[in-house]
Amino acid sequence: MKPFNPLQPTPNTDAPPMPLPDFLPQASANDTLEEPARKIPVVAEADVAVLGGGPAGVMAAVAAARNGARVLLVERQAYFGGMATAANVNIWHQLWSLDLSTQVIGGLPEEILLRLYKMNAVRNRREDRKGPFTICSESAKLAFDDMVVGSGVKVMLHAWLAAAVRDEQGRVTAAIVESKSGRGAVRARVFVDCTGDADLCARAGGATRVGDPKGRCQPPTLCFRLGGLDLDKAAAAGVNDKVIQGKLFADTMDYNGGKYPTTLWCARSVWRSDELMLAGTRVPGVNCAETADFTRAEIEARYQMRWVMEKLRAFPGYENFYLVDVGAQIGVRETRRILGDYQVTERELLEGVRFHDTIAQGVYPVDIHNPDGDGIVFRHLDGREVEVAGNGTVRKCRWDGQPDGATPRDTTCWCLPYRSLLPQGLSNVLVAGRCASATHEAAGALRVMINAMSFGQAAGTAAVLAARDHGGRVRDVAVPVLRERLMCDGVPLLPVNEAVAAD
Ligand SMILES: Cc1cc2nc3c(=O)[nH]c(=O)nc-3n(C[C@H](O)[C@H](O)[C@H](O)COP(=O)(O)OP(=O)(O)OC[C@H]3O[C@@H](n4cnc5c(N)ncnc54)[C@H](O)[C@@H]3O)c2cc1C
Repeated sequence: MKPFNPLQPTPNTDAPPMPLPDFLPQASANDTLEEPARKIPVVAEADVAVLGGGPAGVMAAVAAARNGARVLLVERQAYFGGMATAANVNIWHQLWSLDLSTQVIGGLPEEILLRLYKMNAVRNRREDRKGPFTICSESAKLAFDDMVVGSGVKVMLHAWLAAAVRDEQGRVTAAIVESKSGRGAVRARVFVDCTGDADLCARAGGATRVGDPKGRCQPPTLCFRLGGLDLDKAAAAGVNDKVIQGKLFADTMDYNGGKYPTTLWCARSVWRSDELMLAGTRVPGVNCAETADFTRAEIEARYQMRWVMEKLRAFPGYENFYLVDVGAQIGVRETRRILGDYQVTERELLEGVRFHDTIAQGVYPVDIHNPDGDGIVFRHLDGREVEVAGNGTVRKCRWDGQPDGATPRDTTCWCLPYRSLLPQGLSNVLVAGRCASATHEAAGALRVMINAMSFGQAAGTAAVLAARDHGGRVRDVAVPVLRERLMCDGVPLLPVNEAVAAD
């Protein structure tokens, strides 16, 4: 430690340090200590405990409560909604097939959209509302509250899942939660892991995987909002997100001397014509389920955001902008997933395989942000593959080997089997959301919020059936009963076509 000299002024630290110094703490290698055993209070008992109150967790808790269970929902933030609220991500994708002929998502995701419509806090460019939705992230906090509290769910906010207690047979008997009050235990018959990072499964010793086969994750992005923009002037000057991205890509960032690695996109505000949400940063090479990486990503992304804002001033229409807000946390796309009883592949999704135990459907394409640097690739159900490089150039082809311009594939939707929600090694745990069991590529399609909410509804409903009829054993749930219950609750599941059913 440096000696303290009371006569010397404190160094001026106003100017941002460039390049960034190493701000992560250094621990001694292999140093450990034994935490003394202690008695902790049981702070809650429930039939179903849901860990993580993002899009998946809220819908899991609501579905379980409305189906008659006593439900506890644990969330580490001050509000629900996960990336939709804490990270400013404000686009929810469509509920209909690509040709707009068939509704493939409904139930609770549709209900929250209707609630947002009542609050005048959502827009769809199409009058029939069959396209993607722009939502107001702040109003979403209120809509999530209404669904959770109105369904009789008990809640703990500012509470972190810290550990799990399990028996030899893989039954989790308690989740250990850390909060302002200290450490407490939550008992439940069934646990639903909706932390996005499969935290409960990992803590309980369930099987998990990180990122792609090399352990590389899709990069996180800090999303921020700018106001005071003249978007008509920008449009008249031909300035759009791809133009901005291309110009910035040519530059070197001051905070680390690297190239701008992002795929920049913007979304308009529901309320104001002078405001944009910018997903305009990217931190490659991190796994946000690890504290050091998560910390580095947050700090780096804020420096990157500053650099982006400085550059934006030069674009027509952007001269007078001001910073409205910065996500409470960096947006996380990919970390840990469970290795479940079934691991869905990209091919199965793109070919629309209808599993006998399908419990959710979707149409969002495989969407992979390059884990190492710039660029993004989309593979759509209709056969299109589109790659956008960092400099904004676009490459188009077909992923199915057909020539460009061939007839579009007519796949209605992809399907997710119930088995993808069941972590290997654990008997009374389900997952929902982006940590479902899938390959890295398939997870690129599953991960968006409208899908996470559908998986949440399915997991919450299954949790009630397991808790009520099967002593908590999630593998004993009869899938036809689960599917019927979901359909009664508004989920438009397509019939399983035996000819293409896969196991
Ligand atoms: C920049 C960016 C842009 C994206 N763009 C879109 C888009 O346009 N549209 C779209 O639909 N999706 C988009 N996505 C993807 C989407 O936001 C996420 O994949 C989705 O939110 C996943 O939902 P989830 O419920 O599984 O997880 P999350 O939204 O991550 O929610 C997990 C919740 O669990 C809580 N939690 C985590 N760990 C713990 C713990 N240990 N204890 C207690 N609570 C915990 C978190 O606070 C959070 O509330 C984007 C993602 C990013 C990062």
